[in-house]
Amino acid sequence: MKIHFLGGVREIGGSCIAIETDYGKVALDYGIKVGEKVTDQFPKDFDAVIISHAHLDHSGNLLSLSRVNPVIVGSRITCDVTTDLLHDMIKIQNMNGNHFPYNNQDADNIKKSWWIRDSIALPGMSIQLYPAGHVAGAKMTSINAGGKEILYTGDFCLHDTEILEGSKPENLPKKPDALIIESTYGGKVRLQRDELVNQLFRQIRNTIERKGNVLIPAFAFHRSQEMAKRIDQAMESGILPNYNVYTISPLAHKITGYFNGYKQFFTQEIQQQKQPFNYQHVKQLHRTGQIREPAIVICTSGFGHAGASFHLLTEWAADEDNSVVINSGYLPPESPLKIAKEKGELIKNGYTIPVQAEVKQIELSGHADQGELIQLIRALKPKRTFLVHGEVEQAQLLSEKISGITEAYVPEKNEKISV
Ligand SMILES: [Zn+2]
Repeated sequence: MKIHFLGGVREIGGSCIAIETDYGKVALDYGIKVGEKVTDQFPKDFDAVIISHAHLDHSGNLLSLSRVNPVIVGSRITCDVTTDLLHDMIKIQNMNGNHFPYNNQDADNIKKSWWIRDSIALPGMSIQLYPAGHVAGAKMTSINAGGKEILYTGDFCLHDTEILEGSKPENLPKKPDALIIESTYGGKVRLQRDELVNQLFRQIRNTIERKGNVLIPAFAFHRSQEMAKRIDQAMESGILPNYNVYTISPLAHKITGYFNGYKQFFTQEIQQQKQPFNYQHVKQLHRTGQIREPAIVICTSGFGHAGASFHLLTEWAADEDNSVVINSGYLPPESPLKIAKEKGELIKNGYTIPVQAEVKQIELSGHADQGELIQLIRALKPKRTFLVHGEVEQAQLLSEKISGITEAYVPEKNEKISV
């Protein structure tokens, strides 16, 4: 087998890896770079395209395949959410008046090309998917061909969250010939998750005591539902006092419907609840005008550059009683959340607004941290390990840590390696 690293190496974004055998060729992910457009940079002659999960940096380039009738493989949630995100991308491009060569028909074609399954056999090749943690429906992929085995993690985590179980190393294939692993947090050890959740609750309680508003920008898919469920449960059990809590995002509300429908993707506890994502204390709103302050608001966009989150950020930033909770680890350089956090200001319509509200970053990430990455590599003992999906420093820091367990390598973009 040959591994061709087409994108998402030495950086995050545009993930795509081709696996080539004498009989055929499959793609592992088909993503775009965040903030960039769909491109024709990747080959299109794949026998199958396997999508690890519904984040656009792993799936956003699928529109460029919409007219070649590809076989796309992935889970039910990945299929439904990816096609919704593609429709949303088309809507945003049209709203901005950009010439975008794809329309809703193209996004529908992608949905029609989808094979929802956990295993697939192609000539000379067998493919198996395994739960990856990270977000609902995320999968790792193993490919067997010619007596060799490759395991691709996609984005993953080993830790459980309130709604999702982490990936279970004991269920994954041992001693693969090659492990292709993400390295987002290759050089970073995070605080224990319980401690991060306590930090969040402390921040919310302190803001409630001074009757302030809490703004929580979150992605429409998974982070938004996870945060709403966390706060809902904390109010139900008395960990947090009752307060107005809202979500504002039509896309998130649609995805919440899938979550109620496909409970099998979530923890046992969630599966036992009738409509686990119909919350007791969290209301879904359509517009910011419906908010009754003071309130906790979970809304899109996740980086605070558009939608309700940008609007509320600019409304609430000047008041020191309010707080803004950032739960993403990564923030794009020009995002309002990054500027608010680092420079203590915001820019709206050319005016500068000083940020007096408390801005707190609490990284409740769905990625494995360095400890979890090493734990997986120790459990699987791969012959060779290729580090992808991470800034080069992060990948190299991990590479140094695992060099005693496996032959570690950080590939270059477009590099082709035989296994
Ligand atoms: Zn992801």
